[in-house]
Amino acid sequence: MPPSNAPHLHTPEAVAQAHGVAPDAGLHADEALRRSATHGANELATGPDRPWWHLLADQFKDFMVLVLLGAAAIAGLVGEVTDTLVILVIVVLNAVIGFVQAWRADQAMAALRQLAAAHATVLRGGAVQVVPASALVPGDIVLLEAGNQIPADLRLIEIAQLQVDESALTGESITVAKQTQALAAEDVGALGDCTNMAFKGTTATHGRARGVVVATGMRTELGKVATLLDTDERSTPLQLRLAAFGKRLALAVLGICAVIFVVGILRGEAPLLMALTAISLAVAAIPEALPAVVTVLLALGARRMVAANALVRRLPSVETLGSVTTICSDKTGTLTQNRMHAELLLAHGQTWVPGDPLPGPVHAEALRAAALCNDATAGPGEGSKPGAAQAGAHWQGDPTETALVLAAHAGGLEKTALEAACPRVQEQPFDSDRKRMTTFHQVAHGAHPGLVAYTKGAPESVLPRCTRQWTPDGPAPLNADAVLASASRLATQGLRVLALARRDHTRLPDTNDIDAVESQLHLLGLIALIDPPRAEAQAAVRDCISAGITPVMITGDHPATARAIAHRLGIVQDPDAPVLTGADLAGMDDAALRARVEQVRVYARVDPAQKIRIVEALQAQGHFVAMTGDGVNDAPALKRADIGVAMGQGGTDVAREAASLVLLDDNFASIVAAVREGRRIYDNIRKFVRYAMTGNSGEIWTIFLAPLLLLPIPLQPIHILWVNLVTDGLPGLALAAEPAEPGIMQRPPRPPQESLFAHGMWQHILGVGLLIGGLCLAVQAWALHTGREHWQTMVFTVLTLAQMVHVMAIRSEQQPLWRIGLLSNRPLLGAVVLTFGLQMATIYVPALNPVFKTEPLTLAELGVCVAAALVVGVAVELEKAWRKRRREEG
Ligand code: ATP
Repeated sequence: MPPSNAPHLHTPEAVAQAHGVAPDAGLHADEALRRSATHGANELATGPDRPWWHLLADQFKDFMVLVLLGAAAIAGLVGEVTDTLVILVIVVLNAVIGFVQAWRADQAMAALRQLAAAHATVLRGGAVQVVPASALVPGDIVLLEAGNQIPADLRLIEIAQLQVDESALTGESITVAKQTQALAAEDVGALGDCTNMAFKGTTATHGRARGVVVATGMRTELGKVATLLDTDERSTPLQLRLAAFGKRLALAVLGICAVIFVVGILRGEAPLLMALTAISLAVAAIPEALPAVVTVLLALGARRMVAANALVRRLPSVETLGSVTTICSDKTGTLTQNRMHAELLLAHGQTWVPGDPLPGPVHAEALRAAALCNDATAGPGEGSKPGAAQAGAHWQGDPTETALVLAAHAGGLEKTALEAACPRVQEQPFDSDRKRMTTFHQVAHGAHPGLVAYTKGAPESVLPRCTRQWTPDGPAPLNADAVLASASRLATQGLRVLALARRDHTRLPDTNDIDAVESQLHLLGLIALIDPPRAEAQAAVRDCISAGITPVMITGDHPATARAIAHRLGIVQDPDAPVLTGADLAGMDDAALRARVEQVRVYARVDPAQKIRIVEALQAQGHFVAMTGDGVNDAPALKRADIGVAMGQGGTDVAREAASLVLLDDNFASIVAAVREGRRIYDNIRKFVRYAMTGNSGEIWTIFLAPLLLLPIPLQPIHILWVNLVTDGLPGLALAAEPAEPGIMQRPPRPPQESLFAHGMWQHILGVGLLIGGLCLAVQAWALHTGREHWQTMVFTVLTLAQMVHVMAIRSEQQPLWRIGLLSNRPLLGAVVLTFGLQMATIYVPALNPVFKTEPLTLAELGVCVAAALVVGVAVELEKAWRKRRREEG
């Protein structure tokens, strides 16, 4: 079989050759483009996108619409053709508004999905680049590291301790160690036996590797087993609750409508008119669109959050973000800038500061270790992950490591030259459990070729493994405690300290015995890096605290470094605030942790696995926890947290998959911005519900009370439908644009289980609805009493205008309208002005009078309507002032 068909049976070289690629240079960009044209995008087929007409058709499937269509048919049959036409027009307009909403929500979600799409690191034209995973083609050389989701089927050509979790594909939950040798056909029974391949959709959990793409898209093993992917978004808890609530409300409304119908017939009204009135009222008052509007508000909100660098992966998190009470954040890169540079190197009792001449050979050897035990790569400076390597124009990789390369450079040692002289032959990659890494290099000691291993890592992790101090004249005694004390002293100044060590080997040791390999080391020195806090983080921490949210730092770094940075950022006020370390946590049971968890704001030297205990302890104390993470091992804690937050730049695919929020700029301040946005969106959902339901209640009160007050039916069916369409439609949606209320980050988090209708909303809906109904009926009674023929048009006008005044008045739950200003939500103002114009048209455009069953009002009559509507504004402002007083009192 040719190497391109069964790549696991052939050597890496043969496979690369069969795909026409040089493993150390990758495909040329032109060639990649050409192949992409023949092979297509590296994507699994998903269900077809919903076409627009599908969305439009959906709008007519609603039960209420069907009822209306039925009503239109009946009206037509009995000869009321105008009614039929008007109802049809209204149904179509309603459908169009619903369609536009659904379409906008779809677009917003599609844009978010696009942003959340996976990326892959490839070698193309000799340079390392990050490209969308969908752009991969057979023959591409892909670089993998722990945490990557494997973007296509790869034949591995070079690996360092690569382990892959293949459970997504094989169902086996143990991780598989990979290798690069060709396999014999008889050894390969199942996918799991292909130990020299890495398959799309599985994840690298450990180590690093390089592989050549042998299959993409539907031709991958995953593509062969994947049926159509389910891309449906599930409903959010709020939507589910609203839908359930809507059902109950619908029953109540139908009951009321039945009563109105029966009472009307008993009073001798025409049965057809009563039927149409009851149906119109049911259609208007049943809030069947609420869940859909909530989706729109959430999706639009999610789109706005992207502008604040927070990408929402699950829509429900938009609504729950406002409930966060604790934000547990990593330090490095999230609270700090992750733009490191070396401050000093302490070796053999002497301090070297970059810029000065090197004091001695131990310093030179320490810098060699820093540059060689190092995965930073010389890159083109573009096409690389943004933010990864600003420090050294052309070095890319982990900022800790690029800082070390530059420190070596300052000492006159070039990584590229060192590597050419002492090539790396083996390695033990860094992981945050061990907190160290080791690389093995070939060296020519005069005539005797040999091997040297360089280790670097956290001082507490490296020093216990050091037996001696290295000097050019042979090993010297080591006072490990004194060195650890120096490391602590440096850490107290907020510096990030790494220990450097080395060991000679005559031949390559068994690198699977990690403990034995990283032992009997000779210490070279300590290097201290500075990683300044992010400028925005301090203000964000302050915002958190004023918003009743506790910021907590959880870091793998040294306790003293962590405390110093936390103090600088204002996370703790006391420079000696308590810090719990991973070791402390290991010695505590869950009950003991729960007892302390609310006092502690800094955790240091924590293993990722311990983060989950912290989340659980906080949750047990009733907290709603957002937790950041970037590594493979952070995924369980991210899943467990109420809001898992992953890093968009520095993080791994695994963490991003597990998270509900991805920070595009890895910045703590963006979490706080997202919480603020989440609170705003929730507020606006509440405003929409308050507005729509109060309007409905006003309509019901008007129609329901009229017969009890011995008044004729105040409104025609067409009026009810019109009010419902125009008022609910336009201004309601414009509420999505309502800016955050001024005190939004000064109030405590909302309890996650709190009802949407809390804080007097029910009373508002019923009370203000009653007021609107009362005003309509009062105007009706007055008009009838004073013998005005236009009484019905007046009721219709009062009802519409009252809703316009109401929507303006409820823009803020707390501030009076004059405080937030008329112009602070221009879309809403526009919608209100437009609605007012349309209402005037129904009254004053002669051609519309017969359609809407209206008559032109005199100026005085219009004045009465406007005055009545304004009463609603006054009442709502009084209600706000009263609630404010009550809040202040208690
Ligand atoms: P945070 O958890 O806030 O992101 P961190 O970067 O310090 O902080 P880890 O990445 O888990 O957390 O690193 C833990 C420790 O391991 C660091 O404090 C440092 O001492 C050491 N370390 C970090 N990166 C490297 C590296 N590339 N090589 C060797 N040691 C490292």
